[in-house]
Amino acid sequence: MLASNISSQGRSLSSQLFSKRGLSLLRNQCFVDGEWRDAASGDRFEILNPVDRTVIGRVPDMGAADVSSAIDSAHVAFKNGPYSKTTAKERSDFLRNWYNLMNNHSEDLAQILTKENGKSLAESRAEIKYGNSFVEWFSEEARRINGEILQTPVAGRELLLLKEPAGVAALITPWNFPFAMITRKAGAALAAGCTCVIKPSEDTPLTALAMAELAAAAGFPRGTFNVVTTSPKNSALVGKELCENPKVRVMSFTGSTGVGKILYRQCASTMKRLSLELGGNAPFVVFDSADIDLAVSGAMASKFRNTGQACVSSNRFFIHDKIHDDFVAKFVARIKSEIKMGNGCTEGVTHGPLIKESQLNSVSELVNEALSKGAKLHCGGKALPDLGPLFFEATVLTDVTKEMKIYNTEIFGPVAVINKFSNEADVIKEANDTPVGLAGYFYSKDISQVFRVARKLEVGMVGVNEGAISCTEAAFGGVKESGIGREGSHHGIDDFVDIKYVCIGNLVDQK
Ligand code: ADP
Repeated sequence: MLASNISSQGRSLSSQLFSKRGLSLLRNQCFVDGEWRDAASGDRFEILNPVDRTVIGRVPDMGAADVSSAIDSAHVAFKNGPYSKTTAKERSDFLRNWYNLMNNHSEDLAQILTKENGKSLAESRAEIKYGNSFVEWFSEEARRINGEILQTPVAGRELLLLKEPAGVAALITPWNFPFAMITRKAGAALAAGCTCVIKPSEDTPLTALAMAELAAAAGFPRGTFNVVTTSPKNSALVGKELCENPKVRVMSFTGSTGVGKILYRQCASTMKRLSLELGGNAPFVVFDSADIDLAVSGAMASKFRNTGQACVSSNRFFIHDKIHDDFVAKFVARIKSEIKMGNGCTEGVTHGPLIKESQLNSVSELVNEALSKGAKLHCGGKALPDLGPLFFEATVLTDVTKEMKIYNTEIFGPVAVINKFSNEADVIKEANDTPVGLAGYFYSKDISQVFRVARKLEVGMVGVNEGAISCTEAAFGGVKESGIGREGSHHGIDDFVDIKYVCIGNLVDQK
């Protein structure tokens, strides 16, 4: 069943590139209304391996009309399909089946992920494990989406709050975590009883299509789980359709702040529920009481995970001047000894390339501008064309000033920008001096300072003496322009349910 649907063209191209196991989940069509479909136009676009820009697949370039049809299927499934009649326990069982299947196929999924995203196999395996933990979590949470019975202020009334699934959910996801960003949204949506239309990034749709294959095998009824793929040419129109189609009731998006703002505006037209996980500009502060080795380990994890392409990546390091030089020396030594860039499929490679040329150009320009204005380079600083067209060295810069673009921009690459500070009030002011607020990290052994600073940082998530903080139990999300809503945790369900108040009046006591 799982190896059913690869066209001969897709198979011959793919079989040269993927192992037999990874191949069994490769799909080159969209999954809509329980079947594999092409775009009505027949158009396709190429998926490239960022390691060497070779073509690893061709998937349908769906337009707004194709996506409207997918929304119709999800809407029919939501209103009248078998999923609309499921109990919470049955939804929990579907999610558990999906979790088990993805667990069994985790190596196949990791291979596909590495091929289309470029991250090392070790990182892909970690993402599959992390991402699948959301499916497991929401299979458990599905059974605890309870309503409330309220105290009534008026005699003879019973007041109930019911939690009902909001409707069709549109999920638009990015390329940096092609698996986990889908499970974090879809797990919650499906647990609540919503049906979904998922639009993965044009750079990494193959992981999403493999997940659809496993969702179908897990038994989700037709129309419940739909995946549509589009090229950049169609993304804006498809996005508009997902935002403005009245049959969609929830828009959940992870991606750039710029696109998030467009979707926010467009969703006003139909007053959709919105969940937006957008960009960050995370501060990483090391106070003079900190354990420097611990802080360096945290910096390695927080800065270089996914080659710096994560919204919770540390973007601005602030190191107390008493320990600054020591921290920089240790950090650079760890980078030189631990980071091995290359093809993510190769044993021993820790970090892959950037995802696309625009990312490479943006990172190179930020570094070059900072160097031209006097920043000091401690390691890295340039592209690595010998490894492939999209590699950029792990880089450390100090003596960065506010006039340099790199100080104020979400870098999204393996570049650490290190600043000095000498007092707590100043560093908190600097850390908060940005319109976004997703994650923030600091290292300190002073317990009063730990509470003070954790409360004062204007972010949605704080790591104290810890550089890798994401887990399914925690509420993930930001403040200010980093977005709206929380994913994961028991709060992750909230975006996908409506609360209905029921007042039963004129109840009569027995005479
Ligand atoms: P990045 O710049 O990191 O690629 P984006 O925010 O552009 O991040 O992309 C995240 C997701 O948003 C992807 O699935 C992409 O296709 C989608 N996207 C990009 N532009 C639009 C748009 N105008 N409307 C809807 N979705 C969009």
